[in-house]
Amino acid sequence: MADVLVYVDHMDGAVRKPTLELLTLARRIGHPVAVHLGPGGADAAKILAEYGAVKVLTSDAAEFSDYSVVPKVDALQAAYDAVSPAAVLVPSSAEGKEIAGRLAVRIGSGIITDAVDLENGDDGPIATQSVFAAAFTTKSRVSKGTPVITVKPNSAAPEVAPAAGTVEELAVSFSEAATGTKVTVRTSRGSSGRPELTEAAIVVSGGRGVNGAENFVVIEALADSLGAAVGASRAAVDAGWYPHANQVGQTGKSVSPQLYIAAGISGAIQHRAGMQTSKTIVAINKDEEAPIFELVDYGVIGDLFDVVPALTGEVETR
Ligand code: FAD
Repeated sequence: MADVLVYVDHMDGAVRKPTLELLTLARRIGHPVAVHLGPGGADAAKILAEYGAVKVLTSDAAEFSDYSVVPKVDALQAAYDAVSPAAVLVPSSAEGKEIAGRLAVRIGSGIITDAVDLENGDDGPIATQSVFAAAFTTKSRVSKGTPVITVKPNSAAPEVAPAAGTVEELAVSFSEAATGTKVTVRTSRGSSGRPELTEAAIVVSGGRGVNGAENFVVIEALADSLGAAVGASRAAVDAGWYPHANQVGQTGKSVSPQLYIAAGISGAIQHRAGMQTSKTIVAINKDEEAPIFELVDYGVIGDLFDVVPALTGEVETR
């Protein structure tokens, strides 16, 4: 089997879960070769090898943190030239999609974004996408050049598969455009200590039924008992009860966790668009006619202010 390049998403060197998912999927179509750019490459290599990377290419040039994505595209292209992979996999983050798009243009290849599964086909990797608010599933294959594929978080459960993980320094010569846009301000991440919404294995979301910013503590308590991220419907966000960064849906974020709990959310199509692909969906709503009950695996008809604290208490006793 040929090599498959995997672009490593990390936070200050700490490898993030979507990368481990990519390595797991990459093993289905070839031998994963990880590309780690920025600090912490040597430490990251141990984790990457644990999840199947046969080789880790690292580079810690200052350009990666000081400038926008172009230096990273230069480096990924250098890795592509060195490895001649069968496919390039990149996490479907905002930055990942920009890097993937730019790389595909440079190498004259087709791109598939937001894949949720990968398999080997007779003519190369086949990517599954979930489209139109998960109403349809499509399978696509890149017909020109080396496939560049971005994969949504939570598309696969990371599986340990120890490999050699030899570490090699990646030689990168930066293009003229690499230093064209300097990053002058970095926003800090929230300090809630909760997992990132789009990467979380469990999401607990509150809607208009939560009835006030002060009542979101009920949602947060359940989320914390489960180690979950907190989401919100647009109604709750528009009312100013929760930040837009936590909005789930068509004009918010798309999540696909193992477990999605919707409390006081009616299930409008625009909300479904962002959570319908969750593996298990639970809704708590006092209206038994609420449309959310059409798509749930488990539904609780009741007042969220009774049900959610009871659930939190039950989880905490375990
Ligand atoms: P509601 O529809 O008002 O539902 C509240 C629910 O809470 C009801 O079902 C009610 O029975 C229940 N409830 C009330 N009190 C309790 C209680 N004490 N216990 C239990 N249940 C209770 N929406 C999104 O969420 N995300 C988006 O990204 C998004 N994008 C949009 C884009 C466009 C272009 C448009 C037009 C709309 C968009 N919307 C989006 C809005 C969407 O159409 C709905 O208006 C919104 O999702 C409703 O939010 P909600 O379910 O919290 O509120």
